Amino acid sequence: MTAQIIDGKLMAQNLRKELAEEVKKLNKQPHLAVILVGNDEASIIYDRNKKKAAEDIGMTCDIHHLPEESSEEEVISLINELNNDNNVNGIIVQMPLPKHLDSNKIIEQIQANKDVDGFGFYNMGLLHSNNKNAFIAATPQGVFYMLQKTLGDLSGLHTVIIGRSNIVGRPLASLLLNNHCTVTVTHSKTKNLPELTKQADIVVAACGIAKIVKKDWIKNGATVIDVGINRIDGKLCGDVDFEDVKEVAGFITPVPGGVGPMTVAMLMNNTLLAYIKQNTSL
Ligand code: NAD
Repeated sequence: MTAQIIDGKLMAQNLRKELAEEVKKLNKQPHLAVILVGNDEASIIYDRNKKKAAEDIGMTCDIHHLPEESSEEEVISLINELNNDNNVNGIIVQMPLPKHLDSNKIIEQIQANKDVDGFGFYNMGLLHSNNKNAFIAATPQGVFYMLQKTLGDLSGLHTVIIGRSNIVGRPLASLLLNNHCTVTVTHSKTKNLPELTKQADIVVAACGIAKIVKKDWIKNGATVIDVGINRIDGKLCGDVDFEDVKEVAGFITPVPGGVGPMTVAMLMNNTLLAYIKQNTSL
């Protein structure tokens, strides 16, 4: 058996086309503000991609690039300015921040109705209590979108998530639970991980360990979503040993071309949602 590939790039392209159609109908262009502190190379590339994706679908996006040595007060002052600017619909702070900055404190300054990354406690709380008004972090939302498009109704399916971070594992667990999946969240202290993944209808790998998931971890026909972004000898790979696992899985996402493009598309989706929410409540 060879797994069918879930083409995240194509799904993201289609979603972006749909978003572009929605944006065309608006009186004004939704605006995303990205705050980038310092010169982390990967972050600069990610933010450039976000700006391009926003502009391609007819939104506007500014990258506010602050120097590495910026103080907490300076970053917070910029966030307050953007919170108070009616032309700004979504605000995100690119992670990781330089070590001297408290990322939790900074994220909390973003007004909840502009927190399109959904990393603030308010939106997290809404998601964890199954409230439909939550902004949901883009990566888990992208994973959920791919699963629904591929499998349809997810009710009752057992998902094993590898990783419990606040940006992937935890919000994904809530999102799946809210949609009637049976969810097992595993992490670095989990015992007998392969025994757990072997029971799953869906395995989502998000631990950041290159190719840790092997075919003997996977039930025949299961769906495998690979969130990981790693490099081996400069070459990009996920947390799943793709060539090995595709022999037993029913569906599988590649890296690159899987979850990554969906994440960017979902951020745009959240920005449009923010625009709509802000303009319907006026
Ligand atoms: P993180 O370091 O914050 O969390 C990693 C999680 O994996 C932790 O909960 C940890 O307990 C768990 N873990 C570590 N070792 C483990 C092991 N041996 N077995 C089981 N669990 C283990 O990482 P993160 O920010 O959640 O990112 C995870 C991966 O996903 C990284 O490779 C990251 O680059 C990637 N990522 C990709 C996207 C995307 O858009 N494709 C977005 C976010 C993160």
